[in-house]
Amino acid sequence: MSYPLHVGVTEAGTLYNSLIKSSIALGTLIIEGLVDTMRISISGDPINEVIAAKKLLTFLHLRQGPDVVACPTCARAEFDVEKVALEVEEKLAKIDKKITVSVLGCVVNGIGEGKEADVGIAGTKGGVVVFYKGHIVGTYPYDEGIVKLEEYVNQLVK
Ligand code: SF4
Repeated sequence: MSYPLHVGVTEAGTLYNSLIKSSIALGTLIIEGLVDTMRISISGDPINEVIAAKKLLTFLHLRQGPDVVACPTCARAEFDVEKVALEVEEKLAKIDKKITVSVLGCVVNGIGEGKEADVGIAGTKGGVVVFYKGHIVGTYPYDEGIVKLEEYVNQLVK
């Protein structure tokens, strides 16, 4: 066709339903090179549509953006992984640079996985190990570790 194709799943529903339907449909069509513009339709706050579209393009490697990797948590988690991961996501929301930050609940699996990220933390008894560019930079009490994580993130995105 000699004109751009605008694609979206209409009436895709609420957040989870739309994210899954839209990722399957749009992800497939984007990979096939069939999408010029898109809309992810989500019932509710329209800002979620923008966030979802940005994340879809980032995870398809078509846009530079942040990826916050976080473990699913288990009994070994030494801090509130979800809370920290959400805070980091919020902090990086406007960044248009490729950066991977890992937030992992413990050092059992966290050390190996954390080294893959640009910067990250893994929980220890009473604190966190901080990684930067594949190396451990230190072990800190929790609050100090979170500050260190933020400092390294700021260093990467400035
Ligand atoms: S990184 Fe640690 S806390 Fe997180 S899921 Fe794996 S074992 Fe559990």
